[in-house]
Amino acid sequence: MGTNSGLYALTEEHEAIRAAVRDIAEREIAPYAAEVDAESRYPIEAQKALTAAGFHATHIPEAYGGEGADALATCIVIEEVARVDMSASLIPAVNKLGSMPVILSASEDLKQKVLAPIAAGEAMISYGLSEREAGSDAAAMKTRARLEGDSWVLNGTKAWITNSGVSEWYTVMAVTDPGKGANGISAFAVHRDDPGFAVGPKERKMGIKGSPTRELYFTDCTIPADRIIGAPGTGFKTALRTLDFTRPTIGAQAVGVAQGALDASVAYVKERKQFGKAVSEFQGVQFVLADMEMKIQAARHLVYVAAAAGEQGRSDVTRVSASAKAFASDVAMQVTTDAVQLFGGAGYTQDFPVERMMRDAKITQIYEGTNQVQRMVIARSLLR
Ligand SMILES: Cc1cc2nc3c(=O)[nH]c(=O)nc-3n(C[C@H](O)[C@H](O)[C@H](O)COP(=O)(O)OP(=O)(O)OC[C@H]3O[C@@H](n4cnc5c(N)ncnc54)[C@H](O)[C@@H]3O)c2cc1C
Repeated sequence: MGTNSGLYALTEEHEAIRAAVRDIAEREIAPYAAEVDAESRYPIEAQKALTAAGFHATHIPEAYGGEGADALATCIVIEEVARVDMSASLIPAVNKLGSMPVILSASEDLKQKVLAPIAAGEAMISYGLSEREAGSDAAAMKTRARLEGDSWVLNGTKAWITNSGVSEWYTVMAVTDPGKGANGISAFAVHRDDPGFAVGPKERKMGIKGSPTRELYFTDCTIPADRIIGAPGTGFKTALRTLDFTRPTIGAQAVGVAQGALDASVAYVKERKQFGKAVSEFQGVQFVLADMEMKIQAARHLVYVAAAAGEQGRSDVTRVSASAKAFASDVAMQVTTDAVQLFGGAGYTQDFPVERMMRDAKITQIYEGTNQVQRMVIARSLLR
């Protein structure tokens, strides 16, 4: 297969990674998923297991002590973790989201400083773009950074930041040249020990309750001048380019949670008896399962194509990544909702995982750009 074929190739190594992650996920992550959700607590067992096996940030290049795994491998890791626990899948997913701006645009020194501890499993990283009043319209952000001597001084508040409080590092987008709109935004690497940095209380969410979401506060937060990621004014471009590489990972989460819901449904309908037989014997039930399977297969292929598009440097990567994210997350919502339906009343209780999966799936339609925003991105690219 050519390097710019527009498709992807799954190797034996990819399959080996899938088998290894599935084993860890089932033995060391799945047993805690219900408890993590019920108690809204961080899935520390998952973090330990993923880090011990080197699956916490597989995308980091070998030059910084990482595994140097390709985008497809990273998607497979995230998919397999999400199949048992969406919250835990945000550990590898957000490590990629937070570090991609650094990988794409930072100086060599900053890459070493930030990426090496993440690769070593000694630190995690979050991504700070959104604000309360600047979500879909992220370029309307108000957080400011000004150069004072050898330091950048940040002021403002970021909202909805995944894994904040747990992460040591934060990539933060802030306005450095207010007259210039999106071209006046720069990206920075902030460490949680930097003076003037603090995180807020945890949001009380519908799902992914194991993944803390908090605000970030910058009050004359002072960081060394060389913590800027790329040149001043390039931060928003870096933030958007990052999403080309990470929207497939949200698609992978969506495929994973949908697969988890289908697997649970297949097992349940074979066990559950009504009218004197297993409900799996009713064609009406079988057709629901078949539709779930078709949608998941289609979503998985599109997600893998999008992952490969980033690797191949394809010119349509933005459109393909947005398509994969939107399609797979819509599939995840449909499939997890169908799963609850197939479980009947039991599906509506916390005695089975499908209600959690339905709540968790919902976020994949919202973050890294809502699915309305993905459709705007796709249409803009078509009409250009
Ligand atoms: C759990 C969680 C974790 C998150 N993690 C992070 C993170 O780690 N880092 C980060 O930076 N952000 C994060 N976010 C923020 C997330 O990316 C935003 O919530 C999202 O981009 C939507 O922004 P908003 O919430 O302000 O919605 P709004 O922009 O206010 O949108 C409201 C509604 O209007 C629609 N809409 C808006 N504009 C248009 C338009 N032009 N055309 C059509 N419809 C439109 C939207 O689709 C939506 O339905 C997270 C959010 C959540 C809930």
